[in-house]
Amino acid sequence: MSKLAAAAYLKPEELNESIITRIGNTPLIRMSSIDSAECPQVEIWAKAEWYNAGGSVKARPALRMIEQGEKQGLLKPGMTILDSTSGNTGIAYALIGLVKGYKVKLVMPGNICNERKQLMASRYHAQVVYSDPLQSSDGAILLAKEIYNENPDMYFWPDQYNNDENWKSHYHTTAPEIWEQTNKKVTHFLAGIGTSGTVMGVSRGLRRFNSEIKCYAVEPAESLHGIEGLKHMASSIVPGIYNESELDGKISVKTEEAYDMVNRLSEEESLNTGSSSGAAIAAAVKLGKTLSEGLIVTIMPDSCECDFTHGVFLND
Ligand code: PMP
Repeated sequence: MSKLAAAAYLKPEELNESIITRIGNTPLIRMSSIDSAECPQVEIWAKAEWYNAGGSVKARPALRMIEQGEKQGLLKPGMTILDSTSGNTGIAYALIGLVKGYKVKLVMPGNICNERKQLMASRYHAQVVYSDPLQSSDGAILLAKEIYNENPDMYFWPDQYNNDENWKSHYHTTAPEIWEQTNKKVTHFLAGIGTSGTVMGVSRGLRRFNSEIKCYAVEPAESLHGIEGLKHMASSIVPGIYNESELDGKISVKTEEAYDMVNRLSEEESLNTGSSSGAAIAAAVKLGKTLSEGLIVTIMPDSCECDFTHGVFLND
């Protein structure tokens, strides 16, 4: 069939301007096997964020930070988008940059997985600068700041850890989606903390609909951990957008608990998720066991590509 004939089958509303219109409106999936086995009195649901263009939850804030930068006149044609990232925001910046015609420079800890390195550099043509792997995401934050300060006119630096547009992306999109998709029945929300944009934005957004909703951050139990994209706050630079006092608490998850849950999600729910999704569902189960009823919602930030490199699947 010719391209023209195929296009004729598409209705006008299905013809999208570009791939970036495929950001948001992700599916909400019930963890029915796991919740009925572990905490049958509650339901656990999770947003499958790998359905976003770019493959992760970070497409939402990346798009909003870039578009607000354009609106505010901070990002102009010819400038380079620069930021530190543990990977997912970088992929989103690179993809959006390509669509909108901006160069992208990403600062990432040297130990991020090969799949991400290849995707960003070879496929999306982003320039990647590696920071000291031992300093983790904090090393990348400091190096990005240094690069920006050397040449501020050349760069648009969204600074995702301190940019209100990060959490607002979730306030305006993820939260209303959850509210509608649960038929207004969500009672508890929890999400892992990296920049904290997801947990702060969704919590504020959901409480706008119902101030009784309880909201929690999910945190790695140890400072040295293997949960991709999450921060152990006590031993890290605390993001400017994080405000712990607004939350109802934090739930700690050990690396092995997250990895075990990744394997269970694959075997029992047929979902191939990244390790931070494992941490989120493990935390949801911990919370579910303390409740007599409720509808818990969490976020599955990405799928599993990196975990093949890091060996999550080697333990079964
Ligand atoms: N999981 C993964 C895989 C991530 O890449 C990130 C972002 N670093 C998060 C969770 C945390 O999201 P946020 O930055 O919104 O706290």
